[in-house]
Amino acid sequence: MRFRIFTLTCATLFLAMPVFPYGALGHETVGAIADMKLAGTPTGAQVTKLLNGITLSRASVLADEIKGWDRLPKGQPKPILLKDHPQLQEQLVAFWEANPPTKAKGSDAPTHKEFHYTDVPAVDGGKYVKGNLGTEPYDIVQMIPFCVRVLSGAEPETNARKITKPIALILLAHYVGDIHQPLHVGNAYFSSAGNLVNPTKGGKSFPDHGGNGFNIILSDAQTSKKDSKADSKSGGKSSGKKSSKSKGTNLHSFWDSDAVEAALKHVDTQIEKQPNHKGKATDEEVIAWFANSEPTDWKPAAKSQPTEWAQAWANEIIPMSTQAHERLEFSNVTIKNESASGDATEKKMPDGISYLEWSGLRTEEELHKAGWRLAAIIEASLESKKPTAPKTKSTQ
Ligand SMILES: [Zn+2]
Repeated sequence: MRFRIFTLTCATLFLAMPVFPYGALGHETVGAIADMKLAGTPTGAQVTKLLNGITLSRASVLADEIKGWDRLPKGQPKPILLKDHPQLQEQLVAFWEANPPTKAKGSDAPTHKEFHYTDVPAVDGGKYVKGNLGTEPYDIVQMIPFCVRVLSGAEPETNARKITKPIALILLAHYVGDIHQPLHVGNAYFSSAGNLVNPTKGGKSFPDHGGNGFNIILSDAQTSKKDSKADSKSGGKSSGKKSSKSKGTNLHSFWDSDAVEAALKHVDTQIEKQPNHKGKATDEEVIAWFANSEPTDWKPAAKSQPTEWAQAWANEIIPMSTQAHERLEFSNVTIKNESASGDATEKKMPDGISYLEWSGLRTEEELHKAGWRLAAIIEASLESKKPTAPKTKSTQ
């Protein structure tokens, strides 16, 4: 797959960026769709102003990039992520410091890492209910509305989380992508014997934390190139099907990266199949493909507030998370540090669709919706800031 650069307008910045943890392609796609949808609109102008010219596509990966700061020795200055935007860099550092990666004794400050997900049990029609198992006061379903409130002015920029308006945009550009990745919302829970269980039915159970501890083993040998790299690194000991436990082959990364690549490849194919289309699909064509056609069922419920959308999106994706687990067979499950790990092997399904193909198709729909929803939530958040027109007599 070719290397995509959606941040075409700030290519120099892009080149200066450090290596991504993972999932950058998905986030950039979502950001680029929103950039295209907002281009030339009053909201787009506000975004450009708040982000000092940085695109949403570029902004979308910053919440992951600051995780690179977590490992720096205390007191060491943070590497510059936004070279020509010192004020934004400063605000990012302040945000990181207010939500440090490890909790200081006696501090109730959350860590920025926990803002990216929630761990709702993805079984038996599980739903996000604030305060229930798997949810946290500062999980993704709470943080998205927090950012919305900052943008609309309902929450002051001087808040304890140090989320200013530009930071709120940067975080929204990322979290709206994350909440459309099924394993960022729904979790599998295992018994101490290693069996999949419904944790709400009692008994001790352990989450898989978004699949990070599970090796994914695909049946059609379509494991990613990262798998083969991992295999060759292990001295060729691996039989080829069973991947070594390396980063990049786990179930979570599969959804962050492999499924995204499969989705974009599918879009490439559709573009290239069009009559009169010559050559390979370009990045801009891919983004236009998403931005110019309305996804199905993406719209928020009528009269709902943008602060309510994250919960609706979470509940919408939980069934996909359930299926993402149901299409796998879990084995060699061990429980360590209160979380489950092991192997996740693709099952042969009655629909005959491979795990890679299925996840690619689902991810294509989710990227599409996420891009449109990112544009919509930013628009709705910034719009509510405008003074409301004086009330006239209701026509109802
Ligand atoms: Zn994330």
